[in-house]
Amino acid sequence: MMKLLVTGGAGYVGSHTVRVLCRAGHDVTVFDNLSQGHRQAVDAAATFVDGDLGDAGAVESVFAGGSFDGVLHFAGSLNVGESVAQPLSYYRNNVVCSVNLLEAMERHHVRRMVFSSTCATYGQVDGTPVTEETAQVPISPYGRSKLAIEWAMRDSVAAWGLGCTALRYFNAAGAAADGGLGEDHDPEIHLIPIILEVAAGKRDHIQIFGDDYPTPDGTCVRDYVHVDDLAEVHRLAIETQVAGDFRAFNVGTGLGSSVKQVVDAARDVTGHPIPAVHVERRPGDPAIIYADASKAQEHLNWTPEYRSLSDIIATAWAWHRQHPNGFDG
Ligand code: UDP
Repeated sequence: MMKLLVTGGAGYVGSHTVRVLCRAGHDVTVFDNLSQGHRQAVDAAATFVDGDLGDAGAVESVFAGGSFDGVLHFAGSLNVGESVAQPLSYYRNNVVCSVNLLEAMERHHVRRMVFSSTCATYGQVDGTPVTEETAQVPISPYGRSKLAIEWAMRDSVAAWGLGCTALRYFNAAGAAADGGLGEDHDPEIHLIPIILEVAAGKRDHIQIFGDDYPTPDGTCVRDYVHVDDLAEVHRLAIETQVAGDFRAFNVGTGLGSSVKQVVDAARDVTGHPIPAVHVERRPGDPAIIYADASKAQEHLNWTPEYRSLSDIIATAWAWHRQHPNGFDG
């Protein structure tokens, strides 16, 4: 049993991970300002602290009150398009807040951490599966802010013995198989939940951002990985983390799916025609990115249970039908 602090534990990937950690017998404290997260998403077995990482005093008091064995750091902003328009808020909310967290960890000698990094740290890649050795040249402020945090962590490994795993997620998708947790962002920006809002009659159509990318059907290719598989890799990472070591793992299925393929799969799953309209490219989007996740498999013994896009979409669709207004209502 470990005593764990989870920042952003009321958010989408955070809440699924908290549930997995609690079920594995860990003692979990969630620290979340509920700007994006939902109090109802936090597992009943976890302790909840309503706090903001931007408030160094609040961060200090949570560390002073608990002797944590490790930290899982999910809190942050994640909207690529918004980061292009408001870069400084991304550097503040991602980089500055993470520095506050790392400073408290150093003061309190907490030397094990798992960080929610992203495939957006790689930027425009060449269309082959991305390995952890692929050069990190992010093309959005979001990706650059996440890469800056990875560097703050690596420098902390060398300077004061932090042990850290950066999990570079590809596209988190789906919902817990029992329908108890799912994705609920306001406003919704991600492809699969927006498509399902069309299927549920809440939107008229899906906008496809760009159809002239150098990909087989002209739309962007991504690697959609189930949120419970992501939750599991966090558990494996924190349980095996040692002080003084930096690790980075890509977390994806290795399967690339285009936006058009996602829409088609959602049409099959929902039985709804899901009208699609082609619009301009969205700034900050790479054409194609999918994972070579063999390193996580080898070092963490992690294999995603969900390997089919349709199965992932089906779990998200079950969540949407049972919770048409997300966690509220
Ligand atoms: N996308 C789209 N229409 C939408 C939302 C997203 O065509 O309404 C595309 C987006 O350009 C990207 C892919 O779907 O190629 C996945 O986007 P999402 O925002 O879900 O995740 P991201 O890749 O930005 O993390």
